[in-house]
Amino acid sequence: MTPRLRLSPEAVGSGMTSQRVRDRLVDRLRDGAHSGGGIGDERVLNAVRVVPRHLFIDEALASRAYEDTALPIGHGQTISQPWVVARMTEAVLQVAPKTVLEVGTGSGYQAAILAAVGLEVFTVERIGDLLRQARKRLRQLGMNVRSKHDDGRIGWPEHGPYDAIVVTAAAPALVEALIGQLAVGGRLVAPVGGPGGQVLLQLTRQADGIVQEELAPVSFVPLLSGMLD
Ligand code: SAH
Repeated sequence: MTPRLRLSPEAVGSGMTSQRVRDRLVDRLRDGAHSGGGIGDERVLNAVRVVPRHLFIDEALASRAYEDTALPIGHGQTISQPWVVARMTEAVLQVAPKTVLEVGTGSGYQAAILAAVGLEVFTVERIGDLLRQARKRLRQLGMNVRSKHDDGRIGWPEHGPYDAIVVTAAAPALVEALIGQLAVGGRLVAPVGGPGGQVLLQLTRQADGIVQEELAPVSFVPLLSGMLD
């Protein structure tokens, strides 16, 4: 589906944020320049093409917005690498979800990509300041995302079960409470591991059990407990 975005001149960009620069990132994701392989789902590539990543980071870093790299967003956190965002989105789309819960809103970029591929998005962030900025950006782009300031390790039970769950911060093991909010037929993707190394795991809940697969080595900030203002 074609995402509907409010594209102000600022969102359209110019120079290092122009459509040509963004298209180069999309080509890179498709070609599989990344060791984890290419992104083949055109819905995901189209979302990366239209969502203005430069508006999700500080202006001083905008010239690097369309590099395939994570970038700082303050509070010791990062906006995820585009390849990782695309790969997680592609993984959950394979189960044809309608709803998705994201844990770790951060900049709001992953939430925007999930909304742009047509999902109903719920997202939880523990740092209030990051969440306020993310909400503002998503609103300016006209993206309909529901968000909550909370410790996302408890999920968001009121709106569950979810067809998909995307965790964007790493824990030593999968969080049981989140698996409990996954619908039958649903899929959860999450980075698991510590500072020594993490792997992106994909868990699919089937009627007769759970199937778990490893997707790629990754590097995420840690999933932490409690909330900050
Ligand atoms: N999806 C984000 C990635 C941000 S980095 C993006 O696209 O920009 C991971 C985020 O997870 C950080 O903002 C961090 O504050 C948040 N986080 C870490 N532990 C959390 C928890 N227990 N609950 C909710 N958010 C958490």
